[in-house]
Amino acid sequence: MEIHNLMEDLVVETVNELFDAGAKGSSGGWCTCKQCRMDVACFVLNRVKPEYVLSSRGVAYSETDYGEKLQRGADIACLVKEGWAQINAAPRPNHARLYGDECQDVPAGPVFNIRPIMGRLFNGATFEPIVDSKVSLISESGLVKMMDSNWTNPYPLAKNTNGTFTFWPFPVSSVEVGERRRFAFTVSASPDGFEELSHYVELEVVSEATAVCQFSLQAVHRLQDLYVFAK
Ligand SMILES: [Zn+2]
Repeated sequence: MEIHNLMEDLVVETVNELFDAGAKGSSGGWCTCKQCRMDVACFVLNRVKPEYVLSSRGVAYSETDYGEKLQRGADIACLVKEGWAQINAAPRPNHARLYGDECQDVPAGPVFNIRPIMGRLFNGATFEPIVDSKVSLISESGLVKMMDSNWTNPYPLAKNTNGTFTFWPFPVSSVEVGERRRFAFTVSASPDGFEELSHYVELEVVSEATAVCQFSLQAVHRLQDLYVFAK
C-alpha cells in the first residue's frame, strides 16, 4: 500500500501541457527540457497543499465541486508560469537546454533502469532549505553518470527549488532481461560551515529490455528529508 499525492498528477500534467505548447513555439524561447519541467513541478508542488490518497484505492480524483476543480486548475497553471519564469531567469549551471530526443548513447539490449532520485536538504537548526551549495550522488566507482547533460552531478542547489535536488542515473547494461541487482549510492553534501552529510541509498532494480527515456515523476525514488548541522 502506498500513499500517493493527487496533486502530483495534476501538477505534472499541467507542466507537460504548458511546456508541450511552449515547445511548439509559444514559450518565447523559454527552455522546455525535462530538467526544467522537473524544476517547475517541484516549484509548484512546494507551494500547493498536497492531497493524499491510498494508491490501492485508485488515483481517480475525489468528487469535488466542479467550480473548485476549475479554480484549482487555474491556480496551478499560474504557479507553473511563475515557476517557469523564475527557473528560466536563473538556469542551473551547465544547463545544456537539450531538446528533442535525449535518449542517446544509452546501452542497447537489456538494461537496469535506475529510478530518478529526489530529496531535499535542510539546515538542521533552522529547517530552512540549503541553497548555494552542491549535492553529489556517489557510487563505489565515483560520481554517478547521469542520464544526459541536462542532469548534473554534483547537483547545484538553487534558491528557486527550495533545497530540492534530483538525480537521474544513466542506465546500466545487463546480461539478460529480469536480472536483479542492488545499486548502492551515497548522497553527499558539505555546505560551507556545516558538517559533511553522507546518506546511504540502496535501490533494487530488475533489468528491462530497453532503456526508459521518458522521465516520470511517479517513478521517482524519494528520499527522506536530509539535514545538515553547523560545525
Ligand atoms: Zn531546461
